[in-house]
Amino acid sequence: MRVLGNCPYCNGKVISKKINVRGKQIKLFTCQNSNKEYDESESYVFTADSSCTFRVYSNAFLKWNKRSFSEYEMKNLLKDKQVIVRLHGKKGSKEYFKYVILDKTYGVSILWDEEVEEKVS
Ligand SMILES: [Zn+2]
Repeated sequence: MRVLGNCPYCNGKVISKKINVRGKQIKLFTCQNSNKEYDESESYVFTADSSCTFRVYSNAFLKWNKRSFSEYEMKNLLKDKQVIVRLHGKKGSKEYFKYVILDKTYGVSILWDEEVEEKVS
């Protein structure tokens, strides 16, 4: 468990946890005050003592062929409120860069309309 920064929505800390999803190990970046559990009907819900909903999975951008959103990227996102990520099209197509920002509903979201000027290496 590592602390990555302060939660954008409450006074909690954002921590990184390794979790297992369908046999794959990924990271979960979550506010300490945001916890989920399975209830009696097997739904994955926030626990009664959760006062925050900030949670981001490291595979959030898998759809755009970014395998993992890293702890380093999450740290910078919390610090600067935005971070540049490298995304890929279908196999063999060019990579491109986009800004990622914090999103109250989804944790993170991609700014599709914004062009990224400076490239990250
Ligand atoms: Zn929080």
